[in-house]
Amino acid sequence: MQFRNELDFAQDLDQNDPLRVYREQFHFPKVGGKQVIYFTGNSLGLQPKISKDYVDEIMKDWRELAVEGHFYAEKPWWDYHERLAAPLAKVVGAKTSEVSVMNTLTVNLHLLMVSFYRPDNKRFKILCEEKAFPSDQYMLKSQLRHHGLDPEHALIEVRKREGEHFWRTQDVIDKILEAGDELALVLIGGVNYYNGQVFDMEAITKAGKSVGAAVGWDLAHAVGNISLSLHDWGADFAAWCSYKYMNSGPGNASGIFVHEDHLGKKDIQRFEGWWGTEKASRFMMKPEFEPISNADAWQISNPPVLALAPYLASLKLFEEVGMPALIEKRKKIVAYLEFILGEVAETVSGSFEVITPEERGCQLSVLLHGQGRPLFDYLMKNGVIVDWREPNVIRLAPAPFYCSYEDMYQFGQILKEGILKLSTVDSLG
Ligand SMILES: *Cc1c(COP(=O)(O)O)cnc(C)c1O
Repeated sequence: MQFRNELDFAQDLDQNDPLRVYREQFHFPKVGGKQVIYFTGNSLGLQPKISKDYVDEIMKDWRELAVEGHFYAEKPWWDYHERLAAPLAKVVGAKTSEVSVMNTLTVNLHLLMVSFYRPDNKRFKILCEEKAFPSDQYMLKSQLRHHGLDPEHALIEVRKREGEHFWRTQDVIDKILEAGDELALVLIGGVNYYNGQVFDMEAITKAGKSVGAAVGWDLAHAVGNISLSLHDWGADFAAWCSYKYMNSGPGNASGIFVHEDHLGKKDIQRFEGWWGTEKASRFMMKPEFEPISNADAWQISNPPVLALAPYLASLKLFEEVGMPALIEKRKKIVAYLEFILGEVAETVSGSFEVITPEERGCQLSVLLHGQGRPLFDYLMKNGVIVDWREPNVIRLAPAPFYCSYEDMYQFGQILKEGILKLSTVDSLG
């Protein structure tokens, strides 16, 4: 499609957008009385209007039923989390039995490593991408130290090539093959939080398995954003947070995937708690742990129902729309944003560059060459919510659920004005 940098054109795209009605179903913050242009759905998704009803329902059941709510609420609390598994399984390309919801992301990755990182004298190395999300780096290094290993020696970080802003799949695979039977675990962010790159998870999973390593994925920036087929790819495990593209609310619960091959096993190492046991016998309070036959076996505590409520609300929307429709709009709106950035770059050449490679999801990362922080401040003051990553990157993620093509057009106008204004200030001294 031939795009145009014109208001009418953007409005036309919105008119013909099959998802346009969903924009009305989210709450937008306002700046100066005007609804913002929201680019940070990759950090914290907007609030769906229906989430409040879901939370209110729990508050009401708690008020009126108290402890009886565990079993007699309309959505009983004791197995409330099970309602999330089927819609989530669709989002990540898994069987319902392979998905569970519990805790938070980094906690879950730690717990999954208890099962899937079992180093011995020969096979002990972990491979990840260089400059992984800090929490993942801390997690991996502390796990290594916990096992008495030195991260300097046992952690392999795949680098980007000199002068390039992205990882090459072949470089990741070569590192995996090179580590061979010393490699115990591959654990990478499926979509990189900084440059927005989508890793070839299928090829990397295959390579990791081929040398006998376990393969896990941190899907924080992937879930609800790109097409995933965790089951078919044969990943051993994955985990994700729900507050980014999944719109479940700040700091909210994490989802996990454990491949069917590992389910229903008693001999797998795992940190156990009562919510991981068979439901039928759970309240018999027996001394031995009988793992439930699905991914819920990794549950430890009874679920935080108040937190799961808005996650369930958000999943209702994902079920209604489906990932294919979201992905179709996402591709188009990101392409339009890229086009708009190109138009701005023509007027103010050399002021920035997009560092996100072709293999991308919802996010474009823009490396600023001229104005840095002041331009970010200008955008924020003018109702464009973006985020800033040191040293000089602005991340733009037009979430397809609620962003409009007109937003992209208006953003282009504000960005151009900002760059022009700030460079005049610069040249005046
Ligand atoms: C957002 C994000 C996290 C956040 O972890 P929490 O445990 O939810 O605080 C972790 N890893 C990656 C790659 C992320 O993008």
